Amino acid sequence: MPIVPLKFRESDDDLLLFADDAGGYFKSDSKFLHRYALGRLEPSDIRFLHDHGHGFEEIGDLAYSGFEHRFASRQYVPHELDYIILVPTLRCNLACGYCQVSRVNENTPGFDWDEKTIEAVLRFLGNLATRKIKIEFQGGEPLLRLDIIKRVRDYCRVKFEESEFVICTNLQDVSFEAWKLLEQPDVFTSTSLDSNPLTHQFQRTITAEKTNTFFKNLAAAVEKLGPGKVSALPTINPHNPPLPQSVIDTFLDFGIRSIYLRPVNYQGFARRKFDARASAKIWNQYHSSFIDALVELNWISDQPVEEYYFVHCLRRVLRAGHNGHVDLRNPNLVGYGYLVIDHDGELYPTDEARMVSRIGQFDLSMGDVHSGLSRDTVDAFNAEALNNFHPDCVHCPYQAFCGVDLVDDLSRYGRIDLPKHLTDFCQRHTYIFDKIFSMIYSDDPKVRKSLAIWSGSPRFDGSLAKVHR
Ligand code: SF4
Repeated sequence: MPIVPLKFRESDDDLLLFADDAGGYFKSDSKFLHRYALGRLEPSDIRFLHDHGHGFEEIGDLAYSGFEHRFASRQYVPHELDYIILVPTLRCNLACGYCQVSRVNENTPGFDWDEKTIEAVLRFLGNLATRKIKIEFQGGEPLLRLDIIKRVRDYCRVKFEESEFVICTNLQDVSFEAWKLLEQPDVFTSTSLDSNPLTHQFQRTITAEKTNTFFKNLAAAVEKLGPGKVSALPTINPHNPPLPQSVIDTFLDFGIRSIYLRPVNYQGFARRKFDARASAKIWNQYHSSFIDALVELNWISDQPVEEYYFVHCLRRVLRAGHNGHVDLRNPNLVGYGYLVIDHDGELYPTDEARMVSRIGQFDLSMGDVHSGLSRDTVDAFNAEALNNFHPDCVHCPYQAFCGVDLVDDLSRYGRIDLPKHLTDFCQRHTYIFDKIFSMIYSDDPKVRKSLAIWSGSPRFDGSLAKVHR
């Protein structure tokens, strides 16, 4: 009976993790590996592999079709353009040391959309085929151009059947008019919260006065808008991180139970001030201790807390179709589904691509809002945007759950053809999937409780931890 190809990796319990191209996995020992590699499988091996979807009788039979279906459903298929990031201004009233977009000072002229650009943006939105739209306003500080936000919002509410707006703001200076806008039911607020006030001040607000204003405004946002309409993201310096408990406590103080930990990005101003190019090892250690702290907390708390990206990766392991995060998809085609319109009207496939272009490293623009999309650069780029044939990934048991991030590779190394294990992307994801599988195969009831909560099940399902002996 044919067996589908299996990739394997050592794990921390003397067993090996085996996985196929469709994301089916199990553990076994090195004796099984030898039998598999030498083509000397025993009847009990063949029965196990067949029963668990790793084998078939002939091409086209039910087992084969099932495997093909599972493989296909792991691939990301881009949909119509319905998510637009708008940058109406690059000006900002803060100067965070690791600002990834290289913002300009609040009073600098020439970094806002002019009337011609505003009209072109509205025309561009008007030509979209989608009936639903999500608009994310970034900057700079977008609340400095409340007038533009309102014009775009009013236009979208008429043009589309459903529209949703996210304002990414530093919540530093929120006028009465701005609060009125944020209180609208279709408007959501996203901000940065770098743990406790001391860390936030050191990394962002610099003065005690600005720090107090921010924390007052964040408390007001949660109270006026409700925690479900406010998201806050911490940016962590892996070389000097706050204690996990301090981050967790700060977020819980504001009723926010989903924490998306992000290391300082290797983009924009950040690359000059922080050693963020090769920090995967210390980042992974910090992240692992953060997950352990959440497991302890969830064991005794009736209000669970999650780390957003870890949970996203866990769900990608357990089921197909979790493609909601633009940094982790396969294929990860850029320039489809969403795009960025920058402060000068240039179009970019992603926010990171505009940063790489802004510092002059590579030009990843794809036209401008006046003359429309030009996909030449992006299409050449997309030819490499999948892991299915990558000479390293084809040997990795995590391939079906993982993805690619070529903009990150370009930004860090100036090339996209490094051996995968040398890249920050691969090192971070190898760690995350190692951690997920060590938890799936753990007997610890605390770990199992958190896994059940994070995977959306009433209790941990032991059949997820298959072992063939
Ligand atoms: S990037 Fe690394 S972890 Fe991801 S599939 Fe490729 S080899 Fe595996």
